[in-house]
Amino acid sequence: MQKTIIKNAHVISPSVDLEGATIVIEGKKIKSVGKKAVVAKPGDIVVDVKGQYVMPGFIDVHTHGANTYDFCDADPKAIFELAKGKLEEGVTSFLPTTLTVSNEELKVAAKNAKAYAEAGMPYSKVPGIHLEGPFINVKCCGAQNPAYVRKPSVKEVKEIAKIYPVKAISYAPETEGGAKFAKDMLKMGVVPSCGHTGAKLADLMPAYKNGLRHMTHFCNQMTPLHHREIGMVGAGFLIEDLNTEVICDKIHLCPDMLKLIFTRRSLAHIQMITDSLRCSHCKDGYAFTMGGLEVKLEKGEARLVKGGNLAGSTLWMGMGLKNVHDVTGIPLKDLVRTTSWNQAIELGCGDTLGKVEKGFTADLVVINPKSWKPSAVFVDGSQRI
Ligand SMILES: [Zn+2]
Repeated sequence: MQKTIIKNAHVISPSVDLEGATIVIEGKKIKSVGKKAVVAKPGDIVVDVKGQYVMPGFIDVHTHGANTYDFCDADPKAIFELAKGKLEEGVTSFLPTTLTVSNEELKVAAKNAKAYAEAGMPYSKVPGIHLEGPFINVKCCGAQNPAYVRKPSVKEVKEIAKIYPVKAISYAPETEGGAKFAKDMLKMGVVPSCGHTGAKLADLMPAYKNGLRHMTHFCNQMTPLHHREIGMVGAGFLIEDLNTEVICDKIHLCPDMLKLIFTRRSLAHIQMITDSLRCSHCKDGYAFTMGGLEVKLEKGEARLVKGGNLAGSTLWMGMGLKNVHDVTGIPLKDLVRTTSWNQAIELGCGDTLGKVEKGFTADLVVINPKSWKPSAVFVDGSQRI
């Protein structure tokens, strides 16, 4: 069988930091990783990465758009452009994320994801979708349109999941039926996530007891920590096994907050996300509407024109990793689980995805240590960039 041999790799994988390594890929899988030189046979593909980092392909569980397209656009091309943008960022799997929009628009997005899967997912892979809303707290909308907020409905999620798998849903656990909703979602294989929420700690606990273990963009659009009511930010610090999404662009959270999170919380329960919008990969000045609200990109920050709320990011996963590494000094081999493996574990594929190890799927990103941008990306063993 033809092999792909990646040589001169600086492998960064959970608990592994190995320079001068050779990675052998056979089919879709990693066959070996080690210091020993491997002799190529005729027909084998040899890629010399010249000492660059080779990491597990990033998994972004929360991303809305890129390249001027949003997953919620009715245009079937949107998911293709988003997946293309994600691949350029070194993301090998992602959950395209919907906005708080109408039921019809959510179904169209799911249909477009299905069409992308039927086309063979030519760019980054889409194992399912993430619904951000519409069952959120109307007082914590951020950049979500309050006009479309509604009460939790299992039926609505079921209908969407029939079209394409729903893997995660961000909702406010304090809403009517919020605790039972967590249980219902888990039964359907959907990760229930606490987000856009005004919950107090006591409001979260019934949903936590029912299995909720995920927090949407930790600290953003949730109750802050107060010394007489620790809110959702306090809950994230108090409860170790809550998997907290973190936007590591140093804008959504200041560098000190990133340091606080990454040095005080268990790294096993942090997931870097981009929460990227359609303005990701675009230039300053680009303006657009999101769920009917006007947004403008200025100095790399996407904010609502009215009120100035942050609307999401233009972050690339590799840059997020660099930011946290710079701010905390935590070794990359410890941090790297927060860009893929933790996500893979929660999605139920932690034994095949998220590590550069023998037997794992060869989803890999080669990162240039100077620019922190990907110079090559492998999906299912084939080089796509
Ligand atoms: Zn979002």
